Amino acid sequence: MESLVKEILACTKCQLWKTRTNAVPGVGSRECLMFVGEAPGANEDIEGKPFVGAAGKLLTDLIKEVLGLDRSQVYITNLVKCRPPRNREPTDLEEKTCWPYLQRELEIVRPKVIVALGRHSSSYLLGKIGVTFKTMEEARGKIHAFPILGSQVPLFSTYHPAAALYNPRLKDILVQDFRRIKTYLGGGIDKYLG
Ligand code: SF4
Repeated sequence: MESLVKEILACTKCQLWKTRTNAVPGVGSRECLMFVGEAPGANEDIEGKPFVGAAGKLLTDLIKEVLGLDRSQVYITNLVKCRPPRNREPTDLEEKTCWPYLQRELEIVRPKVIVALGRHSSSYLLGKIGVTFKTMEEARGKIHAFPILGSQVPLFSTYHPAAALYNPRLKDILVQDFRRIKTYLGGGIDKYLG
């Protein structure tokens, strides 16, 4: 993991390195829940850590209050490791160029469950297993099997906490989805796979 972090911090493989303050590798525990967001925002870019702004506070609260876990007990990362300027969405090319880092994180962390937060990470990870992403509304709450080094790991999709910050309806859905993750953690994957 240390060498991966060093590579990410020095990476110049896509144009985002030119405008970032810091590249933002993932942080947290191994063999646990892994949350995958979209890309760092302004606070994350300054601090060099994922999910440290308002959306990060909501994620931390959900992890604590719904899952009963401390943030240090999970792994938190992003699909793209550098902040797109002016908070624009990452491009397809930026996502594709940065993907090998997330792939290596998945192989090192070996998560028990992957939670894709938002449209970009959901769409990208579902695309990797041949599932067509249509909308967040349609994809959320569903579970698919994601292969990591020969193991099938459950992949959940839900909304990005940033989308729920000023939308009580989406916040309620996030809470419901986190409750479902908690239910899964107490049971087996079979009842959730189609
Ligand atoms: S976004 Fe990813 S690929 Fe692009 S410079 Fe940053 S670490 Fe490298």
